[in-house]
Amino acid sequence: AAKISGKGSFRLFSQSLSQEAQSYFHVGAHIREAIDLDEFKVYYQPTVNARTGDINGMEALLRWRSSRLGRFVMPDEFIPVAEQLGIIIPLGEWVLRRACSQSLNWLELFPNLRLSVNLSARQFSDPALVSKVEQILQETGFPCGSLDMELTENVLVKSEDRAVEVMNNLVRRGIGISIDDFGTGYSSMAYLKSFPVRRLKIDRSFISGIPEDKGDLAIAEAVVTLAHSLGKEVVAEGVETAEQMRILGSIGCDVLQGYLFSPPVPHDRFDTLLSGGPIRSKSPPKSME
Ligand code: C2E
Ligand code: MG
Ligand code: MG
Ligand code: MG
Repeated sequence: AAKISGKGSFRLFSQSLSQEAQSYFHVGAHIREAIDLDEFKVYYQPTVNARTGDINGMEALLRWRSSRLGRFVMPDEFIPVAEQLGIIIPLGEWVLRRACSQSLNWLELFPNLRLSVNLSARQFSDPALVSKVEQILQETGFPCGSLDMELTENVLVKSEDRAVEVMNNLVRRGIGISIDDFGTGYSSMAYLKSFPVRRLKIDRSFISGIPEDKGDLAIAEAVVTLAHSLGKEVVAEGVETAEQMRILGSIGCDVLQGYLFSPPVPHDRFDTLLSGGPIRSKSPPKSME
């Protein structure tokens, strides 16, 4: 029979720790110093006007190359940890400041571009959020009217009255609110009429089923109709094929975002994308029948 030594039982224990828990432990230990080590970068993914193919904005997406861990750590792995540990507050401020100052040059050349920045639940419930945002906009000189903040439905349902108040405070300053990953949360539809939301971003999980999955297509069409009748803009996330682009254009999506046009890229590569003129992807949008 196998002898169960202290070492053996330790190994057993460590094997039974889920990979998720181990990763959490490692990530949490290093994330605090990563800001000081300058290991974070903001990448930018273009959004395009569905009718013209022109780049009309960019979403700021955080990237972390950890020297300690010796690899890239993706946001789905470290954002929840940063959120738990509260580090998302300084990290989120860092992203906003960096994205605003880097995007300013692009706005001078293309004044209609909009910058989108993701906000997590913890940031949204920070009482100092509005004043911090205001301070960063002032510091960087970024125009409030060119900024959108992306929130998920789940962030909004937590405390509805307060959420409306915070959103109104942002909107009053000219900032736009987008609902990210729309259709995947647990919120009620009722909030759509009371919340000052400018755009809905249809979650990638519905887009990836198009065209095979008729249910996904039906949902996308319903979201477009709903959004437009409430005076909101619709963005399709995760557009990967020319056929998805064509279909989404034909059902009236206003803005498209996805690997078909470009993955998120570093600041200098976004410069190149912009100077290359309209991204018409691999094939130009066909006329919308
Ligand atoms: P999100 O805001 O919904 O961002 C879209 C995600 O989809 C990004 O993943 C992007 O790289 C990916 N994506 C874009 N186009 C395609 C496509 O065509 N196909 C596929 N398969 N994926 C596509 P990423 O950068 O890994 O970010 C994941 C999530 O992490 C984001 O989802 C957002 O919720 C969060 N996140 C990223 N950066 C930040 C940040 O600065 N602050 C906060 N609070 N959250 C962030
Ligand atoms: Mg987003
Ligand atoms: Mg999303
Ligand atoms: Mg997402």
